Amino acid sequence: MKLTVWGVRGSVPTPGKHTVRYGGNTPCLELRLDDDSLIILDAGTGIRNFGDHLINNGESVHAYLLVTHPHWDHIQGFPFFKPAFISGNELTIFGTERPEKSLSEIISEQMNRIYFPVQLHELKAKLNFKPIKEEGEMKIYGCTVKTLYVNHPGFTVGYRIEYNGKTLVYISDNEPYDREAAASLSNFEAAVKAKFDSKKGDPNQRVFDFCTGADVLLHDATYTPEEYIDRVGWGHSHYLFTLRVAAQADVKRLYLFHHDPNHSDDKVDEILKKCKKEVKTRGYKFDCEAAAEGGVVTI
Ligand SMILES: [Zn+2]
Repeated sequence: MKLTVWGVRGSVPTPGKHTVRYGGNTPCLELRLDDDSLIILDAGTGIRNFGDHLINNGESVHAYLLVTHPHWDHIQGFPFFKPAFISGNELTIFGTERPEKSLSEIISEQMNRIYFPVQLHELKAKLNFKPIKEEGEMKIYGCTVKTLYVNHPGFTVGYRIEYNGKTLVYISDNEPYDREAAASLSNFEAAVKAKFDSKKGDPNQRVFDFCTGADVLLHDATYTPEEYIDRVGWGHSHYLFTLRVAAQADVKRLYLFHHDPNHSDDKVDEILKKCKKEVKTRGYKFDCEAAAEGGVVTI
């Protein structure tokens, strides 16, 4: 598998001279299988450049789009994905929905005429919507795809993609689960909470298990531990927890992901340096890098 990073920034796009190296676009990943089949992970603003790249290459698009959750930074690029405007293209979109709102409504409402000039039903590509939950596993092309509810407001999933003996795990947004903190928070789904609470011992073990043995893990590393103290319940990790996930799951390579919009390139460098030091001090076995827009990872 070959993974190309088109967007890595959390929460909101951050263009400007201080984010040139790691990139300012919100999450979007291009995953190519050995036969060039295409799986897209998330539709943050990075998907706009990716769509233009596909069109410049003259590539017709028959792809799966796996959305982790419908917060803006993960769907906001979709209305700017030009291949969706072209007849003959086809996209099958996987994502979570809510009891009161279907997946297609969630995607189409951000294109309501109030917010955007083109409506979803006016797009010329064929769009298929596949609502998902945590249970079970799916077959996409030759891959086995598994999902896990993670600790982030709303119904948010991580994806585990297994193909030809290699495994990629993508958890864009996830917060360390703390039973006491969770009991006092009101913005998390009861059904997700119940899954974490039902785990004996460390409730985060379900996340560690999901990531077990991954060749590549991309995981939320939005905050420093100092920043996290004031942001409990916002749904994101500090980098020490991110390192713990990678260590507990015995992954081979970890990429810090979902960089905080307030972190400059130099700050991300500093965080990466601290992470590498921690990895060495604690004797962890995995490689640690920070995901950057334009980066290519062979899995
Ligand atoms: Zn996010």
